[in-house]
Amino acid sequence: MTKNVLDLRDKEKIQSEFNLYAKAVLNDDIRLYINENPAEYCESDDMSFLPDEDVIESLIDYFKKYYTAIKLFHGCKPIDVGDYYTKGILVQDSERLYKLASVIFSDVNEEELRRAFKKTNDQHSEIGSVFFTSNDEVLVKYSGHYLIRGSEFIQALAIEISNSNVNLKKIGVPTIFEVNIPISIFPNEDIKKVICPLVADWGNQLLKNDLEETNADNETCFEIKQSINPSYIVNHYHPNKIEDPNNYQRIYTSEITSCELCEK
Ligand SMILES: [Zn+2]
Repeated sequence: MTKNVLDLRDKEKIQSEFNLYAKAVLNDDIRLYINENPAEYCESDDMSFLPDEDVIESLIDYFKKYYTAIKLFHGCKPIDVGDYYTKGILVQDSERLYKLASVIFSDVNEEELRRAFKKTNDQHSEIGSVFFTSNDEVLVKYSGHYLIRGSEFIQALAIEISNSNVNLKKIGVPTIFEVNIPISIFPNEDIKKVICPLVADWGNQLLKNDLEETNADNETCFEIKQSINPSYIVNHYHPNKIEDPNNYQRIYTSEITSCELCEK
């Protein structure tokens, strides 16, 4: 079986692939319907210009047959990169987070750490998910705080703890993991995030509307509600110049740009 991995950074390839798998669905009947019932403009968040909802459902089926995986990126600041290659990219769970917190904030007494941890835990809903983006350049440019200071949870915990001298900037290695996640893992809602903008462009072309300027920096974010098997990791690297959104986009320079696993 050929492996077709969707790489959302390659706009031209996405378009030519869409033309292939969508051809059977977006047929003459649908073209005729749209021309006879023209929407003022086809928007990616409103598919009502199509004759019915089955069109998108069919496109999702063809999409799932065409692609085997979607290439995504996860930014983090691991203390041990090797952990990801043995355990995978794990959903956050309270027990593991507490263990990590007690390693990072080793100068904080247990009572204070437990108090701050409980408060942070109660306020954080991202537990149970792993977050990915389709574009690693955007990650470095606009979401660099995860690469510089670690997860949202650990950053919030650092603020909650009153008496620690730990500097999160000095812990861990900025790391971007490249993963090819099997298509079967994505709910249809995620696939719609990819398909609907393409269908809207197609509709606008058909109606001879001007296409919206495509933003060169654009990205699509995915919240995956399960841990990612280590076998889905295809690569990782350590960006060394990262824009810091928590510090007026100043450039953070990481001294560590490789690890023993980079060479393998
Ligand atoms: Zn490495």
